[in-house]
Amino acid sequence: MSVGRFTFASLDQQTHHEVDYEEPDRYQGLYGIDGDRLMIARGSGLSYVAASFGEGVKSVGLRHFNRVLSFEPEERRIRVEAGMTIGALQAFLVDYGLLLPVQPGHPEITVGGCVACNVHGKNQYKEGLFDAWVDEMEVVHPDRGVQRCRADDDDPLFRLTCGGYGTTGIICSAVLRLVPLPSRVIRQKLIRVRSLEETADCVQERKEDFDLLYSWNDLSGFGKTYGAGYVLTGVYEDEDAMADLDWSSQPLDPSRRKARLPLMNKLSVRSVSRAYHAMMKRSDNKLLSLTRVSYPAAKLGFYFDLYGNRGFLEHKVLIPLDRYRQYFEKLERLQRDLGEPIPLVSMKVFRGSSRLVSYDGEGISFTVDVFNSPGGRALLGGLDTIDTDLGAIASVYVDSRLSAEVVRRQYPEYEQFKEGVARLDPKRLFRSSLTERLDL
Ligand SMILES: Cc1cc2nc3c(=O)[nH]c(=O)nc-3n(C[C@H](O)[C@H](O)[C@H](O)COP(=O)(O)OP(=O)(O)OC[C@H]3O[C@@H](n4cnc5c(N)ncnc54)[C@H](O)[C@@H]3O)c2cc1C
Repeated sequence: MSVGRFTFASLDQQTHHEVDYEEPDRYQGLYGIDGDRLMIARGSGLSYVAASFGEGVKSVGLRHFNRVLSFEPEERRIRVEAGMTIGALQAFLVDYGLLLPVQPGHPEITVGGCVACNVHGKNQYKEGLFDAWVDEMEVVHPDRGVQRCRADDDDPLFRLTCGGYGTTGIICSAVLRLVPLPSRVIRQKLIRVRSLEETADCVQERKEDFDLLYSWNDLSGFGKTYGAGYVLTGVYEDEDAMADLDWSSQPLDPSRRKARLPLMNKLSVRSVSRAYHAMMKRSDNKLLSLTRVSYPAAKLGFYFDLYGNRGFLEHKVLIPLDRYRQYFEKLERLQRDLGEPIPLVSMKVFRGSSRLVSYDGEGISFTVDVFNSPGGRALLGGLDTIDTDLGAIASVYVDSRLSAEVVRRQYPEYEQFKEGVARLDPKRLFRSSLTERLDL
């Protein structure tokens, strides 16, 4: 077991804390974890917000628990330790022609992090959230010991652990269901769109047609291309034309202390956006490898540094289908009033229903990255009001400034989640900066 004191930072650079860190390397250490103080599990520490650390809280790293425990290829089921990264898992599966259907955009993200944030992949509409593919888990808590919970038992431990942000204990392992890998190659095609509204119409109307479907839009300026962009579509090809898979990624360590030059700023944002637009245009009708499509951020770690040491803020909101026109009108008015450029905008289509504090439901998932500046903060403050007024829900694991009050108003099952966790753990041992801020 290695121990030490480290300063951890959230990916958006909004939260830094010096904390005690413990990294068990044997089951004895993990199962026998001491319950004498507040703690929280930590995967790769890549969350946008401070989800796996907090002031006065010990972080427990799962890095050493990264193995495959059992594998039944014919049954398409695998049991893995929670510290295994999705990239390592998929690299193992590819030779068996199998795919983990829901994967967030970076290969270093761990299975534990995927369960605890109940993440989505590139096509939530077709694949659902991560929990749709988890059959069983083993969770340890100092007071309850090691417990197994299953998806089909309607077990509160299972329900609260998926999208529970680490509050129910430490996930040691998970049994995941897999699907056949259609191919190692995806043909990407772009659909040009002229506005946010047209983008939402497009992803909504074409949702059945593609394996991948999301957009990039330009809100970096207020000219006639305001809101224009591309819908990126992808379909698995039958042929194995380009089977070379690159599993490597650029190191991404938000906690590393370094000088980050703010190359993305209000003066450069238009040019960066134009350059990105041109790069994207060149990717039309191209065959892309599974790794490139699954982990678009693998080689783009530098993007997060472009905002400098002040960092950035991300806001991701699920807008009901009958409200997105209104939403985009209000957003445009707000943005023009503030004169605040938005460097990154993306949309996806979702289906499902609101559950506890998971980011789930039916609608258009709309993501923006903004500058950590008074204007950027004013913009997101305005969006909080628009979100709540229009019945949208904001994702709690990406936005470092979201308040408990806003989340309580947006998530109908917020209290149910809190009560459920308190029943499992009256002492509420597992906390982080995120759970403290949101009073979860
Ligand atoms: C480049 C990039 C792209 C991303 N793309 C997407 C995306 O497409 N879709 C999406 O939904 N998200 C996306 N994310 C967000 C990311 O999937 C989540 O924040 C994820 O939780 C990070 O996993 P991690 O291993 O780094 O966990 P950490 O950041 O270390 O922890 C995240 C949470 O999981 C809990 N946790 C971790 N391991 C365990 C465990 N073993 N037991 C109990 N709790 C645990 C922690 O306590 C914490 O609450 C992206 C993030 C990045 C950096």
